[in-house]
This record gives sequence, structure tokens and C-alpha cells, in this order.
Amino acid sequence: METQALRALLVEIAHLDSALALLNWDQEVFMPQGAAEARAAILASLSARRHDVSISPTLQAEVARLQALPAGTLDEREQALVREAADDLADALKLPTEFVARYAEATSKSQGIWAAARKANTFADFAPALEEVIKLNQEMAGYLGFSDSPYDALLNLYEPGLTSQQITATFTPLKEALVPLLREAVGNEKSSRQQLSGHIPQAEQLDLALEIATALGYDTTHGRLDLSTHPFSTSFHPTDARITTRVDEDDFWVCLGATIHETGHALYEQGLPTVDFGTPLGQAASTGIHESQSRSFENIIGRSKEFWSYWYPKLQARFPIFKLSLDEFLDALNAVSPSFIRVEADELSYNLHIILRTELEQALIEGKLAVRDLPAAWNAKFKEYFGVEVPSDADGVLQDVHWSCGYFGYFPTYTLGNLYSAQLWHAIQKDIPDVMQSVARADFKPFLGWMREHIHQYGRQYLPQDLLMRATGEPLNPKYFSDYLKGKYGSSSNSQSTSAISQTTA
Ligand code: ZN
Repeated sequence: METQALRALLVEIAHLDSALALLNWDQEVFMPQGAAEARAAILASLSARRHDVSISPTLQAEVARLQALPAGTLDEREQALVREAADDLADALKLPTEFVARYAEATSKSQGIWAAARKANTFADFAPALEEVIKLNQEMAGYLGFSDSPYDALLNLYEPGLTSQQITATFTPLKEALVPLLREAVGNEKSSRQQLSGHIPQAEQLDLALEIATALGYDTTHGRLDLSTHPFSTSFHPTDARITTRVDEDDFWVCLGATIHETGHALYEQGLPTVDFGTPLGQAASTGIHESQSRSFENIIGRSKEFWSYWYPKLQARFPIFKLSLDEFLDALNAVSPSFIRVEADELSYNLHIILRTELEQALIEGKLAVRDLPAAWNAKFKEYFGVEVPSDADGVLQDVHWSCGYFGYFPTYTLGNLYSAQLWHAIQKDIPDVMQSVARADFKPFLGWMREHIHQYGRQYLPQDLLMRATGEPLNPKYFSDYLKGKYGSSSNSQSTSAISQTTA
């Protein structure tokens, strides 16, 4: 194979990435608090080493050699490998090694500072670290280069080709549709998530979560479920794709919802081609496409009537707290209420959480908003979009880990993932009209199989928008998601539990 030498060099980088990911996973799951300082130093030096390997003269020469081959030498997939490897290399060459180490150390430290500030509900304790991380991201945008906004350079790290202009053009109409839809849904509310509260011990919740994850297709011989403050998924190889969750013993959906979401991510990682491990062909297409997988499992499957027609009787047999009928349970599970916490939000208000964060982080990166003014700006926007006052910074600006990790440009990919998932869902139903009948039998193979065939197997062979085009036959069309939400939550939908099914077949 012409790309054999390149592949070997890329696998070396990937092994360092896996080691770094394992250290990051450990930091969130098991690391003793007192190790934070040392861990930051370890991550900094390993990141610097990884960076040096990723720009080695041997790698540069190999990429240049492959790029110079006569047209037709490489097949389509190998061409994509070279294109993506060359892109990664070009980006890496723009960043000084000294900066990469500084960035890794600062973001590792700031995560600990954020966690403590969130616990104590004191934004002022986090502010200096956040200022530092923002400065580093502005510096990174400068190295990477941009024409319009420094935020574009950061967005591209998560969603290749995406610009802040496109984000604004997509998010603004969505926001204008969502704000009144939320007011309307809240006004019509007959049910609430509160109806599902009731005590289930942590161990039993984790058993249930793992049982459902496994049924969805998650292979626990190639993964595991652990606890962390902020649920996440990570992968060191398709044979070791891990997930974490968190537990509220009085609200079962906190654990189960997060587990199903992270399972969607892990199924993507487990479905990437093992033979291409380490190369772009063995990596996810983008963060937004990744999120389309988790959203599909969490919302389209995990909140559907068919899913629960199988699982709810099992829950009732196991836990005495589930006394509602199936329809009442579904109404409560899908109830809309403007919650303060993004990860616990209903499908409708979720996207307003994302739009709020996207607007704020763009202003922070562009230097139009100072960190000291951030909590007030957050609370004002929250009042405007959700109609309620934020009670505390812990329930507001301090709730998410992302900014402390340096993830600026990440938030919009959540809503992008929702848009992608609705469009993919439309295509799946055309290809497999009885897909939800399988879900009602707890048979997720047709659904997962479609994702494997149309998304997972390609890795980064196609750019996100091209992949979507191939899978669904059209470019990104936010209409599918708006229709989905209007069908499920608009005034014309008489029953939330059944509308989830009828609207998506429309
Ligand atoms: Zn996710």
C-alpha cells in the first residue's frame, strides 16, 4: 500500500493521543485531587512531545511525497487519507511547541479551579483562570489564522469549514422560533419531570444504565461505564471506547439520559474501522457529526414511545416508584420546562442553552465581552430566552466544564448535532420504514446498522457536509429539526407521547 509509511507515522501520533486521553479520563474519573498540579505538568510535557512527533520532518516528507504522486495513483479513500493528514499537519505546523505545552498546562489546571469554584458558587475564583484560557484561545486563533473572526479559527477545530457567519445565519432563525415555542409549551404543560422523581440507589441505576447501553449495541468487552462530575465519552481505540455518567438518586433520567447520550458517542467510536486506526480514516468526521449520534440515541430513540413500550414495563417491575401509565410517563419524560442546567434540559430548551453559550463565547473570543461582565451577561440572556432569573452562578455561568478545558467553538456543535440528527432520522425512515417497530422489540440493529453504513465506516473520508449529503441526499437543512420540534411541542400536537412518532414520519 502506497500510504503504508504514512499510516505507520500517524499511528505513532495516535498512540500518544491515546495515552493523553487515558490520562484525561483518569483525571475526571479517579485522580486524587492533590495530584492536579503534577498531572497538569505531565499533560503539558506529553502534549509538547506529541506535537513534535506530529510535525516531524519524516512525516512532512512523507506527506509531500504522497501529495506529489501522479493523479490516479491512489484510490479515493487513500486520497482522502492524504488530504486530511496534510490538513492536520498544516494546522500543527502553525502552532509553536512551547505554546502547545503552555496551553495543555493552563487548561488542565483551570479544570480543577473551575470544579472548586462551581462547588463553592464563586465565579470570582474562576475568573482569572478563565481570562488566561481565553487569551490562550485568542493566541491560538492568531496562529491558525482567520479572515473574519478569531472565533472562526476555533470553530474549525471542531467542525471543519464552519464559519461564525453560518452559525449566526442558522442559529438566529432557530432562536426566533424557539423562544415563543418554549413560552407556548410551558403554558400548555400538563406534565413535569418532577412526576418521575423517586429514590433509586446509585448501584441499581448504574446496572439499569449499563443494561440499556448494552442493548443499544454498546460492547462492554470494548468499553466501560464510570462516574464523573460531567458525563463524557472517550476512546483510545475502537476496542476501548469508554463512557461516564452521573447519578441523582432521586431522578433516574440524569443517569440514564446521560448514559444513552454517551453510548451514542461510543457506538460511533466502536464503529470506526479498526484497520484505519490512527489515521484520519479511523477518526470521527467532526464534533457535530459525533453529536448527531449521541442525540439520535438520546432523543429520537431514548425519548420515544416505542423504546419505552419495551423498557417501561421492565422498569415498573424493578422499581416501585414508576406508577404512572406509559403515556403519562412519556409525557413527563418529554415535558418542557426552562431548567437552568443544560445537560438536564428538554429537547426544546436545550438549543436555547447552546445559542446563549455560543453568543457569549463568540463575544469573549472577539474581545467584545470582558470576563468580569460574563455572569451578568449570562443572566440577562437567560432571562430573555427562558423567561426566568438564574438563582446562582453554579446554576448559571459556572455549570459547564467546556470553557475551563479551553473548548471555545465546541458548544455550537451540539445544536448542529441536533440538526444533523433530525435530517439523518428523516433519511433512515425513508430507507427503513419499520425501524421503530424494531426499536419497540429492543432490536436496535437496523438503526445502528444504518448509522454504521452511512456514517461510521467512513471516518473522515468525507468532510462533514459531504458526508451528510451522501447519507441524506441533501445539504444541511434546519427545516427537519424545526419540523421535528414543532411536531412534538407545537400547539398543533395534541399528545406529546405520540407526536414524537407521527411528526417524524410526516
Ligand atoms: Zn455529546
